[in-house]
Amino acid sequence: MGEDQTLQKPEQETYVYRINADDVIVWVGDNWQAFVEANKGAANTAAKAVLGKSLYDYICGLEVRHLYATVLKVVRERNQVLHLLFRCDAPELRRYLRLELAPLTNGHVELRSQILKTESRESVELLRPDLPRSDEIITMCSMCKKVETDPDDWQEIESAINRLHLFEMEAPPQISHGLCPVCYQAMLAEIG
Ligand SMILES: [Zn+2]
Repeated sequence: MGEDQTLQKPEQETYVYRINADDVIVWVGDNWQAFVEANKGAANTAAKAVLGKSLYDYICGLEVRHLYATVLKVVRERNQVLHLLFRCDAPELRRYLRLELAPLTNGHVELRSQILKTESRESVELLRPDLPRSDEIITMCSMCKKVETDPDDWQEIESAINRLHLFEMEAPPQISHGLCPVCYQAMLAEIG
């Protein structure tokens, strides 16, 4: 009889926060600050700093804001729980997360980010937040973190760096955020 491997996994970490009907962050879970510190998060992501701020202060890119707005509308109007898969990488880490958006009362929504898996990798300098940047711009998918290398081609950042010859540049390009077609379709499917 096959054993269920999932039972042997260590408990997966989940980070929880809540927004009110105006998308203002009104509550964060106890482990929020530990997570920020473990990831050398920017000062503006500290627990004290995020309370009272709009969720949208932390979401880059017009398309992505639109996506969150659409998803939150569905969660509130249908009183339905939705799930999104996304990546939240650090330069030396791939982090796979599952975001659950659950409606509460009065238009409040609880967002639960669960880390499904992390993978170490050689540090991707392009992702360091403290680097001076050139005027060039590349587009990264906010959900899966792939980079647009051609209009119809999105690749993992390591491949994109090679494809776009980013390693030859004196200063790394700026990163703008959007959505790749795969994630866009996945989103539409989830919203139904
Ligand atoms: Zn994507």
